[in-house]
Amino acid sequence: MNTASFYRDTWAEIDLSAIKENVSHMKKHIGENTHLMAVVKANAYGHGDAEVGKAALEAGASCLAVAILDEAISLRKRGITAPILVLGAVPPEYVQAAAEYDVTLTGYSVEWLQEAARHLGGETVSFHLKVDSGMNRLGVKTEEEVQSVLKILGQNPGLVCKGVFTHFATADEKDRSYFLCQFDRFKKLIAPLPLKELMVHCANSAAGLRLKKGFFNAVRFGISMYGLRPSAEITDEIPFRLKPAFTFHSTLSHVKKIHKGESVSYGAAYTAHKDQWIGTVPVGYADGWLRKLKGTAVLINGKRMNIAGRICMDQFMVELDQCYPPGTKVTLIGSQKEETITMDEIAGRLETINYEIPCTISSRVPRMFLENGSIMEVRNPLLQENTSK
Ligand SMILES: *Cc1c(COP(=O)(O)O)cnc(C)c1O
Repeated sequence: MNTASFYRDTWAEIDLSAIKENVSHMKKHIGENTHLMAVVKANAYGHGDAEVGKAALEAGASCLAVAILDEAISLRKRGITAPILVLGAVPPEYVQAAAEYDVTLTGYSVEWLQEAARHLGGETVSFHLKVDSGMNRLGVKTEEEVQSVLKILGQNPGLVCKGVFTHFATADEKDRSYFLCQFDRFKKLIAPLPLKELMVHCANSAAGLRLKKGFFNAVRFGISMYGLRPSAEITDEIPFRLKPAFTFHSTLSHVKKIHKGESVSYGAAYTAHKDQWIGTVPVGYADGWLRKLKGTAVLINGKRMNIAGRICMDQFMVELDQCYPPGTKVTLIGSQKEETITMDEIAGRLETINYEIPCTISSRVPRMFLENGSIMEVRNPLLQENTSK
């Protein structure tokens, strides 16, 4: 029986050493007494949640955060025992599942807390109270609501408040005025709470990197744990070198010479203006290499070569500067020799933010986890949940 973890020449490499380095730099930056909460929602921004979560915990994170309850339960099933906070809205009828898996939820409104209490049958569930200081997404907004929360807690011992937090809308922008307004609003709203007993957090990567102190006793570290900057405009405020963890590779599956006037791919929209070498790469928009990336460069033999014609669902073609044998490595994100294609470059081409790119690389692309340059593990949901190599 064949037992390889995948049978395609396309893969993403996740450098867990880079994740650990970013976490330990951040931990030093925020100080020993401030908790680092590693944000591993959306399969760790497409990197692989359990693997990244374990690496972050080993490097000094105290707990993990996800967006939905299923992500938290999946991490529990894969052996993560550290505290996990669900940052998003979990329907109150599922509080018993959260209690069963020892997952911390977000209490984001008076009604949610009332309903959650009603759905508890003798169990206790822990939660962090979400305060809306200006994002207008989730959270209690007024001092009256905070008083109602305190009252509900007094009446329902099954609801255990372990933290309080807010989220900034503009922490990654140069102009700090809206950010500072939110900060003041948060401080005012949480004043009646027993803050000494709570995990109090407001900073995401951007705020945590920019401010050394003043973000209470925990920081939610997402994008920069993956070695990516929260935005271009705060680049000069990042206090240590971020090391990108995600690279994306494939190989040439087929190579041919085409003649002047011949066309490539759907719509015959690309026509050669001279005789040239064309390579086929088995990556397409179903892998998350979106059609809009038509014409962008990939790296082959340490050189930039452009995608020729439309990107298909499962393949694209590339202009080659010479003949290369099938099997030659193609790097879509990452480095070859002196050349690098960054996540930011791809995000720019797609007119979006770097956050979106690894999330978009689909689960059809196996994730290979490396530590100190050696492959530790491979994850390919198509064939098996988890394989050790
Ligand atoms: C995703 C998320 C974060 C992480 O933000 P980064 O900018 O990736 O560091 C923090 N807090 C909340 C509430 C989030 O939803």
